[in-house]
Amino acid sequence: MRNFIILFLLLLTSLTSCATTTFHNPQIRHRRMLYDNMVLEIHPTTQSIPNPVALNIFKAKMERFGVCRASNIRIITHDPGIVLIPAWTSSMLQAWEHRHRTRFDDDPDDRSLTVFVSYVTGIHTRVGYNNIVGLKYDDTSIAIFFRNYAPMKEACVLIHEVGHVIGLVDRECREGDPANPDRPSHCNNENCVMFWQIKGSPDFDSLCQRDILSLNHRQ
Ligand SMILES: [Zn+2]
Ligand SMILES: [Zn+2]
Repeated sequence: MRNFIILFLLLLTSLTSCATTTFHNPQIRHRRMLYDNMVLEIHPTTQSIPNPVALNIFKAKMERFGVCRASNIRIITHDPGIVLIPAWTSSMLQAWEHRHRTRFDDDPDDRSLTVFVSYVTGIHTRVGYNNIVGLKYDDTSIAIFFRNYAPMKEACVLIHEVGHVIGLVDRECREGDPANPDRPSHCNNENCVMFWQIKGSPDFDSLCQRDILSLNHRQ
């Protein structure tokens, strides 16, 4: 019986330490997030199923950088559609969304954010956009062009596009010209997730973190 109690206490200790690891930093625990809650409604195809590891990285980074607490992010993934469209125009993406979106964001400026994610394969047809991996095509609508990415890259694309939805990069807050004038709403730091190319970092750099804080104070 004594052995059983010790085993039970050991199990309890390991379970609670696991459940609280996100909140080691007391500043994060008490910090007010940019959003109280967030819903990501994903509509994938059979060729572009989101990787749960990527979605968990996304949630952890949203919390770490003060966008929304991970436990308050709800990700709804629809049953995948059988779609073999090699190239998408923006209006095709809008039609896809119109057919499948069930959650809407009535007020994108309040502290609840609802984003629709077209998780598709293929490319975007806009000239100069053939190689893009993701796109914000409406206020609360993004597309991920999935190509069997490693989970970290998949997470980077998702974080980057949601970064645009929340208002990054605000060029008025930046000194100097954009690194790529054709992609002005991006960060000049290639180690930042908001750089115009995905270089592998899932993190917002200090300038983008400052933008998130100032967006938070504006609300
Ligand atoms: Zn971008
Ligand atoms: Zn940045």
